[in-house]
Amino acid sequence: MSTAPRTLHNHIAGSLCQALSGATLPVYNPADGSVVALAPRSSREDVDRAAEAARAAFGAWSRTPAPVRGEVLFRAAALMVARKEAIAKVMAAEMGKRLEEARGDIQEAIDTAFYAGSEGRRLFGHTAPSELVAKMGLTLRRPVGTVGVITAWNFPVAVPSWKILPALVCGNTIVWKPAEEAPESGFLFAQCLWDAGLPAGVLNVVHGLGEEVGAAIVEHPAIAMLTFTGSTAVGRKIAETGGRMLKRVSLEMGGKNPVIVMPDADLDLAVDGILWGAFGTAGQRCTATSRLIAVGGVEGALLPRLIARAEALKVGNPADPAVEVGPVVSEAQRQRIHHLVGVGVAEGGTLETGGALTPGPGTFYPPTVVSGVKRGSTLALTEVFGPVLAVLTAADLDEALSIANEVEYGLSSSIYTRDINAAFRAVESIEAGITYVNAPTIGAEAHFPFGGVKATGNGHREGGWAPYEFFTEVKTVYIDYSGVLQRAQIDNREE
Ligand code: NAD
Repeated sequence: MSTAPRTLHNHIAGSLCQALSGATLPVYNPADGSVVALAPRSSREDVDRAAEAARAAFGAWSRTPAPVRGEVLFRAAALMVARKEAIAKVMAAEMGKRLEEARGDIQEAIDTAFYAGSEGRRLFGHTAPSELVAKMGLTLRRPVGTVGVITAWNFPVAVPSWKILPALVCGNTIVWKPAEEAPESGFLFAQCLWDAGLPAGVLNVVHGLGEEVGAAIVEHPAIAMLTFTGSTAVGRKIAETGGRMLKRVSLEMGGKNPVIVMPDADLDLAVDGILWGAFGTAGQRCTATSRLIAVGGVEGALLPRLIARAEALKVGNPADPAVEVGPVVSEAQRQRIHHLVGVGVAEGGTLETGGALTPGPGTFYPPTVVSGVKRGSTLALTEVFGPVLAVLTAADLDEALSIANEVEYGLSSSIYTRDINAAFRAVESIEAGITYVNAPTIGAEAHFPFGGVKATGNGHREGGWAPYEFFTEVKTVYIDYSGVLQRAQIDNREE
């Protein structure tokens, strides 16, 4: 049953509005190609308005006591709980995630809201003794200003929540551009904050394209800091511009996440984890399992089970609760995935299952396993962002670790083994922000830091206690109650 597309809005200075130009962008349901919504196609002038609203709101919001700011997040969390099902349905329709996974996406934002809300009662500084008498030193955390938030479509609520909620509790104001592929579920998340009493102009949402709205946010002189999740290519550009303008920039980018399976592993457990890691969310997670590194001949027993289970996964419209793998986000992405599988085979890999374009409507791609992938080949190194698993083999753990580390990315990783020595060597040696032992590469929890090394990140972490460093400036305060001039490094010396 098709319904008329919904009309989406920007939200600037507390009011709903269209793009000043009146232009719109269609939002497609990847499961059937229908247009589910029309979003404003905003431009630089809309970003100017949003940045001005955020600047105007900053004074009052930054002076609001942090525990009171936190209470807005608690109320928003309660609204998210009440609206979880409705938001999940919108998310599933606009980007193809299964309902169960869409609920998980929103749950992560709920968890983050409770964590970040309580942080309003912490935002700890330090105190330390002064080197001088009758003097003390301490640090406070101050908000930075207006934060530009730019996010990808694959976690349309969870990932923005990791950025927006800590930024808000720290007293910053925000201009956010949700991904153009999934603009509505993110907006519904923001609606929970507005309905919870977030003052006008504190969080502004401007829809549109990356090269238009995204670039305008990055280049806007009144936007003091940038937090981005998306591809490494775009993150690099943002870092360049942000660096030139001396903006603080946090980047979460691509991944090519390995799972190492040792010969002593519980193979049933490993198969469960690899299937969920590689084909959950149709492989469209930054932490998706993209490479299986089978050690010491374990592929002989592992691969037949894995292939049989991959072939049994039900692919289809995520509105059907029996479906286990939904569509990929767009035809362009599907063609890219198919191309990379073809290159993998042309470069010597064996197509074990999948690898064919499913007839339409809908942009479906079957769970695909390519074995015999050679070290250094395209499929061994390139992020696919689809339901494709490249299988490589290693003689021993040393070789497996060297394969794991020979990609440009370093987000997530996993090892399946019963040998505690092997597990700890992997934890120590894999160049990644996250390593799981006997668990899949996906499954981050909201109260732990999340992020990657090498071309995946630029040194920051989201989640848990980590982002409060990023979203605040440290103010050092010295209080001298001696009543005389005291000179540090001079007056307390005998010589
Ligand atoms: P993308 O980089 O194309 O787009 C991400 C966002 O950036 C979108 O909102 C887009 O409109 C915007 N954008 C595009 N060009 C821009 C520009 N020139 N200036 C400013 N903004 C611009 O990424 P995508 O293909 O939509 O998402 C998939 C990628 O995101 C994958 O590489 C995936 O690994 C990554 N990702 C990473 C994480 C993480 O936490 N590390 C999480 C989710 C997704």
